[in-house]
Amino acid sequence: MYPKIAKIIVDVPTMQTDKPFSYAIPDELVALIQIGMRVHVPFGKGNRLMQGFVVGFDAGKTDVSELKSISEVLDFEPVLNHEQLKLADEMRKTVFSYKISILKAMLPNLLNSSYDKVLTTTDVTVAAQYFGNSTEIHFSSLDENEQAVMMKLHREGKISVKYVAHAKESIKTKKVVTLTDVTALKALTIPLRAKKRLEMQAFLQDCAEEKTWDYSELVKKFSREVVKFFLMKAILNLTEVEVSRSQDYFSNITADEQKVLNAEQMSAYQAIINSAEKPFLLEGVTGSGKTEVYLQVIAHTIAQGKTAIMLVPEISLTPLMTSRFIARFGENVAIMHSGLSDGEKYDEWRKIAAGKAQVVVGARSAIFAPLENIGAIIIDEEHETSYKQDSNPRYHARDIAIWRAKYHGAALVLGSATPSLETRARAQQNVYQLLHLTQRANAKAQIPQVEILDMRQHLSDKSASFSQVLLDKISEKIAKNEQVVLMLNRRGYSSFVMCRDCGFVPECPNCDISLTLHMDTKTLNCHYCGHTENIPYACPNCQSQKIRYYGSGTQKVEEELSELLPTVRILRMDVDTTKKKGAHGRILNSFGAGEADILLGTQMIAKGLDFPNVTLVGVINADTALNLPDFRSSERTFQLLTQVAGRAGRADKVGEVLIQTFNPNHYAIKLAQTHDYESFYQTEMDFRRKLGYPPYYYTVQIVISHKNEDEAVKKSYEIMTILRRNLTEKAQILGPIPKPIARTHNLYHYQLLIKYRFEANLTQALNAVLDLTQVRENRELRLAIDNEPQNF
Ligand code: ADP
Ligand code: ZN
Ligand code: ZN
Repeated sequence: MYPKIAKIIVDVPTMQTDKPFSYAIPDELVALIQIGMRVHVPFGKGNRLMQGFVVGFDAGKTDVSELKSISEVLDFEPVLNHEQLKLADEMRKTVFSYKISILKAMLPNLLNSSYDKVLTTTDVTVAAQYFGNSTEIHFSSLDENEQAVMMKLHREGKISVKYVAHAKESIKTKKVVTLTDVTALKALTIPLRAKKRLEMQAFLQDCAEEKTWDYSELVKKFSREVVKFFLMKAILNLTEVEVSRSQDYFSNITADEQKVLNAEQMSAYQAIINSAEKPFLLEGVTGSGKTEVYLQVIAHTIAQGKTAIMLVPEISLTPLMTSRFIARFGENVAIMHSGLSDGEKYDEWRKIAAGKAQVVVGARSAIFAPLENIGAIIIDEEHETSYKQDSNPRYHARDIAIWRAKYHGAALVLGSATPSLETRARAQQNVYQLLHLTQRANAKAQIPQVEILDMRQHLSDKSASFSQVLLDKISEKIAKNEQVVLMLNRRGYSSFVMCRDCGFVPECPNCDISLTLHMDTKTLNCHYCGHTENIPYACPNCQSQKIRYYGSGTQKVEEELSELLPTVRILRMDVDTTKKKGAHGRILNSFGAGEADILLGTQMIAKGLDFPNVTLVGVINADTALNLPDFRSSERTFQLLTQVAGRAGRADKVGEVLIQTFNPNHYAIKLAQTHDYESFYQTEMDFRRKLGYPPYYYTVQIVISHKNEDEAVKKSYEIMTILRRNLTEKAQILGPIPKPIARTHNLYHYQLLIKYRFEANLTQALNAVLDLTQVRENRELRLAIDNEPQNF
């Protein structure tokens, strides 16, 4: 017997809909509906049609008289599998956002938005019987019974389906022409004066065994009219075929051979492939060959008939990185990152769901890739903050990876040169198994010499950003035809304008933050809400005309550099120059091809670049992040400097690193100089223990936002009371205090921080807080609950 009632999570993010609602399954759908499919259901008083997910059935009950009915089943096959539904249940316990937002995070956007389905068939009987002899029909144009028939036919493989979203095709197609009748083609007599037709006839005959051609190419070659002529004679047939938007990844990549692993790599590799009992921390200096180990672990996994997920930080998902994987694994690779369009993401997702990809390489959300039979999950640069999503659902990819690895019995590898303190502390306690790579893989590539330059003693009157020492070094390298990478630490820093007379700095009208100067557009922009305005000619405060530019954003530094060293060729890489799709890759290729002497950029250049000709890395301002009100600021500074230092001397030439700083004695900077992760770990752990920060304590941050500041404060105290009432004595509650940037987007932000070592009532307390948003008077209240926040 089919169940008559389905349990559905409706796409309405509220506390009530966090548990599934029961809906009756109409008779014509009972045989078709499955757990994990999307449906449309009437919801609320107005019975508006909403999307939802079937998460279960109620087999026991048969009385449906009180229930609303499912209106439509949206899928032919489940889009969420058993594992994902189970994972969502688990996530709901630690990620304080609604179930629906968790489920949606697992799917490509296209499946979460409104769309229609177009059905096509190649079966002539089906076409004659149901399609009115047309090749396509829209699913929405059919009645319920017809829809049910279509779903059956799809099961039998007689029709295929494509989704059309936002009135735009979500599947990319191209027109192709097929040769259907060679005999007719040969028999065709064309008058001599119809030259083009004759040409095309000859062409088709010559390459008749190819059978299909791009319609557009034929048109280009012979003209639309001539192609149409052959179509009308039924010698050619015109159809549309699907093309994957990701296929351009696979062109122009030469296959890559496995390297012979060195002893350290080999023992790491052996450990990983021989046990999936606990996660591994692969701690290896930059250039020690971690990626080679990942590649071989994945090759081993594939050889066993299993699949693998390789996560890399968004920013380092460069063409360089992707091509390294494609070079090894060819078309078995699917790529997922935020630079893809919705359509491209959907193509990659379908490739994975259809079992056509064995390896998924991607950024954070790729951890949800619907792979079956996973044998290995690898997280490169595991310390990167981009693995934590900073909007709902606020999950950390590492936690999802741990859960999925366990579910599949897969090996999990967390790799880094500078592991997060949390991860390293777990390895210290044997929760993870620690594996070390201490040498650079390329024996000739030495760990670079790092020099720290005390800027208090080397301030130059010629330049605001460069010491003479750094300038001389740059000139010296360029004279030898070597290349230089310069990094500007932009975190917590930017260029701005200020009135020399009264000190006035223009601020965003919506956010408590000074506006950032953009020289290319000659505007002042807010980096939080996007507000832009023109640079004022006179001070709005005192009418003085002495408006001056301050700070050293990348544009400013580039200008300065080209004045100081007029003949050098500079490439700039930052958010502004990499906005366009593919720009990131183009800049790197150009630098790799030697088309510039200096690559100047922000943090984004610190990751994963591997240029043999770079022999000098200069850090222009090492300390800017140290001044941020965030207990992780030392950790971030150490990680960044170690990363960027690893960019020098990747090949045979000796590399040098020069760090300009105003805090030459800070331990994060000094220990980065000697690449001494071990001492940094010890020092920093001491500091965390004394001040009661992670990893000794767990933290939850609650951000309360409201357009009225008094309300924000009032609600913050209300929440504190709820927490106090629910949590045990042992949990500390800090705050409420205003956020470091107290207002953005015209909303005032306050924060509360919970610190605890063990707290049995945490889930209950935080759900009680979440419940607050359900009260009518709190409609304007915005709440963000962030379990283990990465940024403060
Ligand atoms: P990491 O990921 O630790 O930064 P990579 O895997 O990128 O290091 O390796 C650094 C360089 O050394 C790369 O050019 C890589 O091809 C090379 N390499 C890695 N392992 C070996 C090996 N076993 N033998 C020779 N070269 C290697
Ligand atoms: Zn002024
Ligand atoms: Zn703003």
